[in-house]
Amino acid sequence: MRDLRVSEILVKSALNRSGLPEYDYVLNPYSGCFHGCIYCFAPDFTRESEARERWGSTVFVKANLLEVLKREISSKMRGLVGISSVTDPYHFIEGKYRLVREGLKLLLANGFRISIQTKSPLVLRDMDLLARYRKSLDVGFTITTLDRNLAEILEPYAPEPSSRAAAVRKLSEAGIKTWIFLGPIIGGINDSHAGILPVLELAAETSSRVIYDWYTPYRGSTRMMASSSGVKDGGRLVPSAALKAELRGWLFEKAAELGVEINSQEDEWLRKPETGKLF
Ligand code: SF4
Repeated sequence: MRDLRVSEILVKSALNRSGLPEYDYVLNPYSGCFHGCIYCFAPDFTRESEARERWGSTVFVKANLLEVLKREISSKMRGLVGISSVTDPYHFIEGKYRLVREGLKLLLANGFRISIQTKSPLVLRDMDLLARYRKSLDVGFTITTLDRNLAEILEPYAPEPSSRAAAVRKLSEAGIKTWIFLGPIIGGINDSHAGILPVLELAAETSSRVIYDWYTPYRGSTRMMASSSGVKDGGRLVPSAALKAELRGWLFEKAAELGVEINSQEDEWLRKPETGKLF
């Protein structure tokens, strides 16, 4: 049993300028993430040391986020807000705190555009808002693999991939722009054509664009990967230049065959924030 800890903190700012070129702002209602993915880069970008060190087991809730957001909205230039960049916006405590839902209401009613990225079908709770503001937002699902057993190793507490696929289908059927983040691709772990093909097929079925990215080791992820009994390293986790070149060629060829638009994360970063992820 995990020893889950939730603490409330107060913040001075809610909408923060993004280091990610595709967004104007990011909104992170939580610090830490209960999904506990072992490849996650976010521990290295998390201020609270307890959340960093107990990744997946401690989350800080920004209790005054909505108050601060209301204040900020009146003075900030309108733009594209990424929800979220260093936590999953819809991990299970959002069911109780509803910071994302209320934040979405405020931002959308005030002319901001939104790009959501999650692994959780809890996003479907907000279908009413997503449908009403569909022209101003998109929803991305991270699907690292559709293999349930592999996902249990890599993303031990995240909703299982089939439930994410079902959520992408529902959103797409409702006319909401969807995209799939295929990543990180980890050498020797989730880099096989056979493993990736079903993700591309899901993208084709749901008219979702695909953004793929490679595994980059950070201090936190290196520690978590090394302590996972399901990951055999052998020094190949970071994809080699040869693997990247081979896989890139295959991804683009297969995507073209299936009629799927695909870009690498690096390509995304070349896009201007005003075009952003709203596609
Ligand atoms: S869902 Fe995202 S933020 Fe949360 S642990 Fe997984 S990769 Fe990190």
